[in-house]
Amino acid sequence: MNEYKFRGKCIIKFNLKTLTGLHIGGTAEGIEIGGLDNPVIKDPITNHPYIPGSSLKGKLRSLLEWGLDKVFKNKKNETPPHTCENDPEIMELQKKIREIQEDKKEKLEEERKKKLKEKIENCPICRIFGISAGAEVGEPTRLTVRDSFPSQETIKKWENTLGKGIYTEMKVENTIDRITSIANPRTMERVPKDSIFEIEMIYDIYKDDDVDFLKYLFQAMNLLEDNFLGGSGSRGSGKIKFENPKISFRGKEKYYKTPNSEEKIIQLDEILKEAKNNSEISIPKRLYDRFEEIKKQLEEIIKEEEKVQ
Ligand SMILES: [Zn+2]
Repeated sequence: MNEYKFRGKCIIKFNLKTLTGLHIGGTAEGIEIGGLDNPVIKDPITNHPYIPGSSLKGKLRSLLEWGLDKVFKNKKNETPPHTCENDPEIMELQKKIREIQEDKKEKLEEERKKKLKEKIENCPICRIFGISAGAEVGEPTRLTVRDSFPSQETIKKWENTLGKGIYTEMKVENTIDRITSIANPRTMERVPKDSIFEIEMIYDIYKDDDVDFLKYLFQAMNLLEDNFLGGSGSRGSGKIKFENPKISFRGKEKYYKTPNSEEKIIQLDEILKEAKNNSEISIPKRLYDRFEEIKKQLEEIIKEEEKVQ
């Protein structure tokens, strides 16, 4: 049965390694060349740079929208964040409704709503990342992305190489005035390369086939490795790699309601065997390619879960 019923949570952990400097802007983000001060976002208590969950989730979402051909134009010919309401088929129906005789509108409108619901239910973007507030048809958001903080070793490394209390590098970028040839340098703060941030994502399972859609999260992560995180990507910043995945499941009954119970770990050793000694292999790509094996394990755990009730 493929109906909404909360089964439990997949906890997905990764290390995110910076392969170049990383700039996720604090308040000055958005000021292009010419800004004097381009700070990175930092935890106000520890002053450590961090990766806001919203930045990571937003980037994964937008890359997957392009990757799955889910970038649609709206009525004004703009390309806003994906919504299935802008799916060409739905837009076509909407146009028909506007043009059709008054007495036939209601029936066609019903058809449009049904179609829209169907679209959303089968849309990886809407299912994983959620639908916009105020959307006509509801759908629970499956994915939560936590803020990611640097690992203890990374903090130690920063302090050892950069100095106590210094966690970032300053990169100077020059633009040259095309007429006067006067250089206009600006400094940009970046997290140094080879820093590790600890990523945690939670993927809620409400429907049987939610497990299938998890695959697209790994696709999005793989797309991000070939793109960039944060600002200044086209000028070299923000190349990252995902490493050291840990996936586990916390079932509604077994984990949350049974005393002393533990989360179930998904075994990835076999799947990642070749990737272990070959840093060229993308871990998310591996997980995507061999998703059937992950799916099988997850489905078995969820079936066990069902027996408890
Ligand atoms: Zn959608």
